Amino acid sequence: MGAITRREALLGALASLGGVGCSKASAAASCTDTAGLGADEAQARVAMEYVDRAASPAKACASCQQWLATGPAGAPAGCGGCRVLKGPIHPAGTCKLFALRT
Ligand code: SF4
Repeated sequence: MGAITRREALLGALASLGGVGCSKASAAASCTDTAGLGADEAQARVAMEYVDRAASPAKACASCQQWLATGPAGAPAGCGGCRVLKGPIHPAGTCKLFALRT
């Protein structure tokens, strides 16, 4: 009976760790893969100085008028999109085109 209790405790701990892993996986680690883009589309991201982490959270992509919650096909989980820049876009990212959504 004691062994069952320890087993249950272990399973509970593993389930808990699994839950943490899932929540971390749902947040995009990186949305910088431009492999599927054309050269002009990839260059536009560079020219507009797109980065995955805005220096100022107030200028994060998720608060921008151009933000799309759904990323392009094949984008990593957690990445959204942008009406202007092509490719996966991080909700915490930013670029020179940021315009606060009102
Ligand atoms: S325009 Fe720039 S700041 Fe706005 S969603 Fe697109 S990439 Fe992010």
